[in-house]
Amino acid sequence: MSKKLNPESLMMSYGYKPELSEGAIKCPIFQTSTFVFKTAEEGKAFFEVAYGKREKGVNEELGLIYSRLNNPDLEILENRLCLWDEAEDCAVFESGMSAISTVLLEFLKPGDTILYALPLYGGTDHFIHHFLPSIGVKVHGFKAGMSKNEILAKLEKEQVDLRSLKMIYLETPANPTNDLIDISLLREFANDIKQEEDILIAVDNTYMGPLWQHPLKHGADFVIYSATKYIGGHSDVIAGAVLCSRELMSRVKTLRTFLGNMAGPWTGWLLMRSLETLKVRMEQQQSNAVKVSEHLAKHPKIKSISYLGLLEEKDPSYPIFKKQCKGTGAMISFNVKGGEKEAFKVLNALKLIKLAVSLGSTESLAQHPKTMTHAGVEEASMEEMGIFDSLIRLSVGVENYEDIIWDLDQALEQI
Ligand SMILES: *Cc1c(COP(=O)(O)O)cnc(C)c1O
Repeated sequence: MSKKLNPESLMMSYGYKPELSEGAIKCPIFQTSTFVFKTAEEGKAFFEVAYGKREKGVNEELGLIYSRLNNPDLEILENRLCLWDEAEDCAVFESGMSAISTVLLEFLKPGDTILYALPLYGGTDHFIHHFLPSIGVKVHGFKAGMSKNEILAKLEKEQVDLRSLKMIYLETPANPTNDLIDISLLREFANDIKQEEDILIAVDNTYMGPLWQHPLKHGADFVIYSATKYIGGHSDVIAGAVLCSRELMSRVKTLRTFLGNMAGPWTGWLLMRSLETLKVRMEQQQSNAVKVSEHLAKHPKIKSISYLGLLEEKDPSYPIFKKQCKGTGAMISFNVKGGEKEAFKVLNALKLIKLAVSLGSTESLAQHPKTMTHAGVEEASMEEMGIFDSLIRLSVGVENYEDIIWDLDQALEQI
């Protein structure tokens, strides 16, 4: 085939050979813990590669050994996930948090410093604040919108030894506020101060799925997903993924093998099934979100709204959006007029939209960040991050947009 096919055209078949599975059109679930070697010599050869005793030959594939190391449902899924981000390699995990914590544990050692953007997903925030310091990693935050000089000044004020800076970790757009962070600006920042080794940049890209933002193209070293969200997309599976260069991946996969936090074959199979409709789902969610946000922006019971599709050209984030994002996403945050009482009234009155955390799923979900997803954030930094009592976060699903708008309108009438 000479034409380079688009990822959505390859999600049904890429990396799978029906002739190896009785001609089955779909990849079966390889519900097996271990794999039979043809000969002892073959088993020996597989282990030599798996344990890094020798380099893989040019046309040699890593043979199947044991499902903690590799399994067809995981390998084919990983190959397919690489296509969206044009990554060299991918590793799938049993949750987004295990993907995140494995990367942080592998690349940060006692004495190292991590610089992270605020706000972060609550679980990541907790791991950075409560676990990393316990193994001697120093943690320093910066806020979206800071310039290179402002970040440097902050680190100098906090007396950070720049030689110890090993990783920059961020989410953009930030959850729940949709604040944008310029990935290529941080790449420049990292290159300006790097000494011998590169400072690694990790981007949690869950909010923009694999469709609307490709951080590796802007200088990131790792893209991390909670595959529970858009990739899984049906609120029925917990999973995570990391994408990076082959070189970095050999370290990620080695630690995964020994932590044993790879996804199982059933999770891999579910995610492959989800990937077939990834693009149609996400595009429908986005076009619904555009309609819903335009309606809410004019609503008399709403004080303010944040959605990437409503960014105005004069907004300081607009150039970042133009450079970095390929879509406006399906995540809307809005402040109702009033406080927690009014926000709760709206949430309790929803009929079609479900009151639940999580995002990126086929059904629309609404929640109250201050008392739910972000309940662990320090009270003092809540308002600074834009997390108010009146804030509701909405993940728009694939329902008919008129029905979503109807539901929001009838719920907002409760105020
Ligand atoms: C949900 C989420 C995570 C954690 O993923 P799990 O699959 O729940 O472990 C990490 N980052 C972001 C942005 C998330 O939304």
